Amino acid sequence: MLSFDPNSVKIPLGNFINGKYQALSGQKIPVKRPSDGRFYADLDEASAEDVDQAVQSAQRAFTESGWRSRPPRERGAVMRRWADLIENDRYLAQLESLGSTRPISDVIHHEIPFTAEAIRFYAECADKYSGDLFPTRDSSLGMLIPEPYGVIAAIAPWNFPLSTASWKLGPALAAGNSVVIKPSELTPFSTARMAELGVQAGLPAGVLNVVQGRGAITGQALITHPLVRKISFTGSTATGAHIMSAAAYHGTKPVTLELGGKSPQLVFNDAGDIDELAMRMLRGFTANGGQACVAGTRLIVQTGIAEALTQKLIGLCKGFRPGLTWDEQTGYAPMIDEKQGQKVASIVAAAKSQGAEVLVGGERFADTGEGWFWQPTLMCNLTSNNPAIEQEIFGPVLTIQTFEEEDEGLALASHESYGLCAGVHTLSLPRALRAMRSIDAGTVWINRYTRSGDFIIPTGGFMQSGIGKDLGRQAFEASHRHKSVLIDF
Ligand code: NDP
Repeated sequence: MLSFDPNSVKIPLGNFINGKYQALSGQKIPVKRPSDGRFYADLDEASAEDVDQAVQSAQRAFTESGWRSRPPRERGAVMRRWADLIENDRYLAQLESLGSTRPISDVIHHEIPFTAEAIRFYAECADKYSGDLFPTRDSSLGMLIPEPYGVIAAIAPWNFPLSTASWKLGPALAAGNSVVIKPSELTPFSTARMAELGVQAGLPAGVLNVVQGRGAITGQALITHPLVRKISFTGSTATGAHIMSAAAYHGTKPVTLELGGKSPQLVFNDAGDIDELAMRMLRGFTANGGQACVAGTRLIVQTGIAEALTQKLIGLCKGFRPGLTWDEQTGYAPMIDEKQGQKVASIVAAAKSQGAEVLVGGERFADTGEGWFWQPTLMCNLTSNNPAIEQEIFGPVLTIQTFEEEDEGLALASHESYGLCAGVHTLSLPRALRAMRSIDAGTVWINRYTRSGDFIIPTGGFMQSGIGKDLGRQAFEASHRHKSVLIDF
């Protein structure tokens, strides 16, 4: 039985500094449950002074706790224990489900195992990265030695609080850094519990700290703190640009940015079974209510199967029902809040005013009280400058464009500003590889549209979709700075 009573879940204090929860005296931020819009807790916002305390504690832990100097396999062992605790903590799952857009069955079956496995992947990386040796003169030895940065700041959004945290904490901690993470103020509590479990697993106090509050207050104090040596951010392109410029002015800190997307699903006539294809498209834009950076939101389909695929999708879109995230029967995610729902509504309205036709959906579900659920929406008749094609909507809205010839489809697939992901669907290998080469995107999925459990494959965007990679060995390597050493002997 996965369903639970949301009022029975004790809400922890949100700020976790130097190994314990801290009550702070700053502003209180009311936090609401997305699926019914009801208030459930006040969050203490961390002021600049509180952030300073967290960063100082992380710095002390970096220099004094022995975490960085511990044999890497021992760091890995602590992280594996942490992953086990995460996987078995029903309380963590309930906090995530109650406070985010993720239905409890999704949290238990996907989000939690995915989070735990990401931590395990980086536990395994801990002793498998060794820098380089250079060919120098016989009487000298040249080396490149990886070292942890020190304190890394992680800033996470609200759409996948736990797994996004694991992508940032896993590589940073396995490399011996300390971390201060700020979750979104909309989804604050599960990350704090995750940190508490880390201490139970053996992370020294101060190695992992959680500060809470709005981006402009708490986030800004964190990224500009002089002791923060690197920033890892996931969120909107606008905030990513702000963070990059703040990082340049406040210490020339390196940044990893995982930003927005407007990813195409390029479907050719020979893409195979139409029912399977329709399900693939459907999941690509409705998972988490479309609130995923990688959502496949632009269907670009060859005319031979366009009508059949569209009709299948219209039928499937009508099958969704809203529900409370703590009910195990619920399969469809709410919008995170009214503001996000209104954003979806306004882009759909703007798209219609510029000639787009809504085939199904196009509205908020009725009778969901203060919770906001958007109906899965299909739109057609779109020119390439329609707002629904140009802008990231971050809701369950799929635009449909058709093409006759391969070149035409390829031209539509690349977006002028975003380049996060792309789906290519064809049973012709040469065509799939031509599309893979042509599309400007950091990830291309061929005949699938979702991440796998292969954490070895990095993820990250081109152009305005970001800089650097999360996951893979690349994220672990990027959690180090590299010292060049030359020894004469
Ligand atoms: P933001 O990019 O504004 O927020 C992401 C995180 O950055 C949050 O923790 C936020 O804090 C923090 N933040 C905001 N400003 C600063 C700052 N000056 N310094 C440091 N941290 C800061 O996204 P929103 O939540 O406002 O969502 C807006 C839009 O962004 C969505 O509609 C969607 O299009 C896109 N988005 C994309 C995501 C992705 O995965 N690519 C994820 C989430 C959103 P806080 O929110 O607590 O103020």
